[in-house]
Amino acid sequence: PPDVEVLGRSAWTVLHSIAANYPEAPSRSQQSDLTGFVSLFSKLYPCWVCAEDFRAYLGREVPRVTSRDEFGKWLCGAHNDVNRKLGKPEFDCSRWEERWRTGWKD
Ligand code: FAD
Repeated sequence: PPDVEVLGRSAWTVLHSIAANYPEAPSRSQQSDLTGFVSLFSKLYPCWVCAEDFRAYLGREVPRVTSRDEFGKWLCGAHNDVNRKLGKPEFDCSRWEERWRTGWKD
């Protein structure tokens, strides 16, 4: 199986980039596509302990897919849950779009 860290960095890049490109006002079918994607991702992610914990997270915190910002913040929360588990610093979710879409402003 692939290296858990390399896989993780790549996977988060794909997931946050999907959030960054998700519509601000998604249609019903776009919302159901995203819900389905997250659910399938949690079954197919090839780090099985990671996937199991991610499925448990999905059970506690239902994915919010009603807008780009809702999903981006939800995903940031999911990533922070893993950060906490691994003893990594938590990310400020008010800045997720700067990191993944617009670029840092300072
Ligand atoms: P990563 O955590 O990969 O983050 C990459 C970049 O994302 C960071 O440099 C930062 O700029 C940005 N970032 C950090 N936090 C956030 C946030 N909350 N919101 C937005 N952007 C952020 N590894 C394990 O060892 N055990 C596990 O159980 C596990 N579960 C995982 C579950 C999932 C669904 C995924 C996708 C990955 C999982 N991983 C797990 C991998 C782990 O999360 C990291 O990807 C890996 O440890 C590499 O960490 P990193 O320090 O390079 O940064």
